[in-house]
Amino acid sequence: MTGRTAVLVYDSIYDRIIRRLEEHFDLVPVKPGVSPQISPEDAARVRGAAVYGKFGADWIDLLPNLEIVANFGVGYDGVDYDAAAKRGIVVTNTPDVLNDEVADSAVALLLNTIHEIPRAERWLRSGNWEKVGPNPLSPMSLKGRTVGLYGLGRIGLEIARRLEPFKVKIAYHTRSQREGLDYAYYPTLLDLAKAVDTLICIVPGTPETRKAINADVLSALGSDGVFINVGRGTSVDDDALIAALRSKTISAAGLDVFSHEPKVPEGLLALDNAVLWPHIASATVPTRNAMGDLVADNIIRWFAEGKALTPVPETPASV
Ligand code: NDP
Repeated sequence: MTGRTAVLVYDSIYDRIIRRLEEHFDLVPVKPGVSPQISPEDAARVRGAAVYGKFGADWIDLLPNLEIVANFGVGYDGVDYDAAAKRGIVVTNTPDVLNDEVADSAVALLLNTIHEIPRAERWLRSGNWEKVGPNPLSPMSLKGRTVGLYGLGRIGLEIARRLEPFKVKIAYHTRSQREGLDYAYYPTLLDLAKAVDTLICIVPGTPETRKAINADVLSALGSDGVFINVGRGTSVDDDALIAALRSKTISAAGLDVFSHEPKVPEGLLALDNAVLWPHIASATVPTRNAMGDLVADNIIRWFAEGKALTPVPETPASV
């Protein structure tokens, strides 16, 4: 013990965060998990936490002097921000620094899905090109599509901007219409789904968005329908999606996120018309470095000045 402020860190968090924080704080490494494990002495001295994924009320209740929880990621649905807010604990996330990376990945996933690129690469690597002949054509094309964005926030808008040069029509659904945009706005997700053939999910995981992509929404996309998810897996009714893909109610899906990561439903793994990625939309070294620095800077600023850089709206921003 050094007498410095104690900060809990998930021991498997991005290493740069640990290296930045250990310059300023006494670190208390813990294993992320459903049953929190920490000694009573450490629990009593922890005043900050750097976490990713799940950080529930079970953790928060164990730490009587906790002031700030800095989440490694812009989506903070794994942090019990209501429990934090009740205690006046600030929660921070990592907005903006990953917008470009995630938007690039969303467009890549869309093209991978529509052009069936993973299947084409499997064709080449298996020797089929030489043994059997040219790769079978993809029945889908981006040409002439209408792309609907479920969510048009920081990342959604970057996706829309990137799609403009592809000459597709663009529409969106959010709870409140954004001003100054030419994209068609639909006040419900179902209305959006009826108007488009391609749907990209980029909303946060909240009780309101839970299982919002359901059988009705998927069937409204039609048989040319393509569904892309770079938001949260919890926004999808998995059984409905698997059924829609299996029955060709929609043509294909490209998924970067899943309801119970890192578990992926067997039903999805068995499908040829699903492109599946292991939650990699922001996963490059430059972007993860920027996210990691923001986690560290939030905690450093909090203990230096009593102010967080990027607090989430549900919790206090300063002491
Ligand atoms: P923002 O808060 O900037 O945008 C969220 C958008 O979703 C807004 O347009 C908001 O509009 C809309 N929205 C929120 N709730 C609802 C609702 N109930 N119904 C309809 N629209 C809703 O977030 P970001 O763009 O920064 O990030 C979005 C999410 O993307 C993150 O929360 C995270 O879960 C996910 N993400 C995934 C990544 C990955 O690796 N795959 C990487 C980064 C982010 P309004 O408030 O008007 O409804």
